[in-house]
Amino acid sequence: MTTIAAFNKFTSNLKDTGYIMPALFIGHGSPMNGIEDNEFSRRWTAMAKEIPTPAAVLVISAHWFTKGTRITAMDFQQTIHDFGGFPQELFNVQYNAPGSPALALETKELLQSAHVELDHDWGLDHGTWTIIRHMYPQANIPVLQLSIDYTQGPQYHYELAKELYALRKKGVLIIGSGNMVHNLRMIAWDKMQEPGYGYDWALKMNDQFKDLISTGNYQPLLNYETMGREAQLAIPTPEHYLTLMYSLGVSGGNDQVSFFNDKAVAGSLTMTSVKFG
Ligand code: ZN
Repeated sequence: MTTIAAFNKFTSNLKDTGYIMPALFIGHGSPMNGIEDNEFSRRWTAMAKEIPTPAAVLVISAHWFTKGTRITAMDFQQTIHDFGGFPQELFNVQYNAPGSPALALETKELLQSAHVELDHDWGLDHGTWTIIRHMYPQANIPVLQLSIDYTQGPQYHYELAKELYALRKKGVLIIGSGNMVHNLRMIAWDKMQEPGYGYDWALKMNDQFKDLISTGNYQPLLNYETMGREAQLAIPTPEHYLTLMYSLGVSGGNDQVSFFNDKAVAGSLTMTSVKFG
């Protein structure tokens, strides 16, 4: 009896909507996109209007890289300003979307192949709020974050993400937030204000990633370490790239694929984003 009552308390009560919510991979780029009205942030705003209003948003952000997998499970959560050297205006941003402990628990139970810890310390990092505040400025839709287990590789994350698919039927918008090409050490700071400027290797990898995604040929993406020197330049560290594995995993390979914000920035970054479904 107690068990049933406890269970009822925690079920999210999200019902099947009768449609499959699209899933997104979003290149978040500079934290400044969080306060700038530019071509990328405008596209995020437009995207939110093109897809059904979600019951909740679940973000896998490159900036929550943990040992093991965690999910935010608070009613109210802090806005994390996890960067340095930016204007005060950016530090002043608060994005007070509620969380959903119930959906956190439901997601934990869906993820059978990982031991997921319910987290009460994190919040929304800039991989999440810089995007979501443009999409849902009223902050009235629950937002949760799922962390990336840094002890695991691309195949693991891809397989784990498949277990999230049921959430798409319940109106949950799942977003992988990173960057496919992300090499901060090689950034051309003087080209920051010239969207479209990309090094040859960055543009080449961008094309190659898009080609593999649109043809559903995921295996090379899961083995990016064997894709050669240009891939190593594009992915010098895995965290921004691994978020893509979640978007590929929840897509299941049956979605229509379209790209947006398909642009290089500052030589060694791409903002290229994908809509699945
Ligand atoms: Zn980032």
